[in-house]
Amino acid sequence: MKSGNATLSGYGTTIFEAMSVLAREHAAVNLGQGFPDDRGPELLRREAAAYVVDGHNQYPPMMGTPALRQAVAAHDRRFYGLEVDWQTEVLVTSGATEALMDCFLGLLEAGDEVVLIEPAYDTYAPVIRRLGAIPRPVRLVPPAWQLPREEVEAAFSTRTKLLVLNSPMNPTGKVFTREELAFLASLLERYDALAVCDEVYEHLVFGEARHVPLMTLPGMRERTARIGSAGKTFSLTGWKVGYITAPAALLRPITKAHQFVTFTTPPNLQHAVAAGLGQGDGYFAGLGAPLARSRDRLAAGLAALGVPALPCEGTYFLVLDVGRWQREGEDDLAFCKRLVVEGGVVLIPMSAFYDASPPRNLVRACFCKLDSTIDEALRRLGAAVQRGGGDSVER
Ligand code: PMP
Ligand code: GLN
Repeated sequence: MKSGNATLSGYGTTIFEAMSVLAREHAAVNLGQGFPDDRGPELLRREAAAYVVDGHNQYPPMMGTPALRQAVAAHDRRFYGLEVDWQTEVLVTSGATEALMDCFLGLLEAGDEVVLIEPAYDTYAPVIRRLGAIPRPVRLVPPAWQLPREEVEAAFSTRTKLLVLNSPMNPTGKVFTREELAFLASLLERYDALAVCDEVYEHLVFGEARHVPLMTLPGMRERTARIGSAGKTFSLTGWKVGYITAPAALLRPITKAHQFVTFTTPPNLQHAVAAGLGQGDGYFAGLGAPLARSRDRLAAGLAALGVPALPCEGTYFLVLDVGRWQREGEDDLAFCKRLVVEGGVVLIPMSAFYDASPPRNLVRACFCKLDSTIDEALRRLGAAVQRGGGDSVER
């Protein structure tokens, strides 16, 4: 028998799926995969349901319904002052996952280099490699997740086609500052490279942190594709509605990919997301505070158990240093698997976000959960620590 593609066959099942399967098997509290406990805004659910019953459920226009493309353009103007032509500069996709795929398929040639910032979301590198392009990872430095400027500079060259920038960043919760973005922008200009900006957590920022799209920096409008997701902005991760804003010249090849990957996205969901994006400023401004409270609830509970959390300014995720709970020689993946079985709690090993030689003492916890879910996870962790005698979940 001939076998499947060697690059993709070399990767396992995504860590989020693998850990959610384990969570179900062991009836564990799932702080792994990033999805909220709540059902999402009633407005959107009712709009989608009404459209399914009464609307036009045939293929919508390939680039997305006019209403949603107009809503994305209006959103970009309202929040970032970007002037966007909804007809030529906005593409609706089936989730940010498809948007990323379309950008990579539409922009990369075999042999192109792509600068990635690690810890990096797990879909980037496999797809880039599958296309024959070459990931050039640069690692942020924990615990503050500093950008190592010399290393970033060294990763860029005339072979660099793309930078993939995820801010606010999964899994670190880092929100890149304007100064860091200006530094990256200067490299993109120097090497005439493009940027794919994964900004799915754009509205999920806390405290003083402000999300600045790279696209808004001088010189970046023409070389940037910006990706958003209704999954995150409306707590509806299963809907898989994403959107790309990019200059027409970049969006054209990206749209060629979209036409062969999915061609369209369900019109009922597009209709509902357009209504969602049209909500008043209060909706968007109100997204951060409850999440920040959940982050603090989880972090405080963990601190009481002796486990420190790293700084987190946005997203759904908190990174924890579980070194004192790990057994001698146990890596983060083995620890997470043992924790499901012995502690009944699912976390994500950070090694999933690194290409090679990852840190072994860090895990990611998802906090976009009801207080009762967070409290139950903490109760289980506390019980496991007690059973283990204080410094190990098991010993
Ligand atoms: N990028 C990042 C950084 C993510 O965390 C996710 C997870 N949902 C995605 C992209 C994919 O988004 P979607 O569910 O809209 O495909
Ligand atoms: N983005 C989600 C996370 O980081 C997972 C999405 C997925 O399961 N593919 O948890």
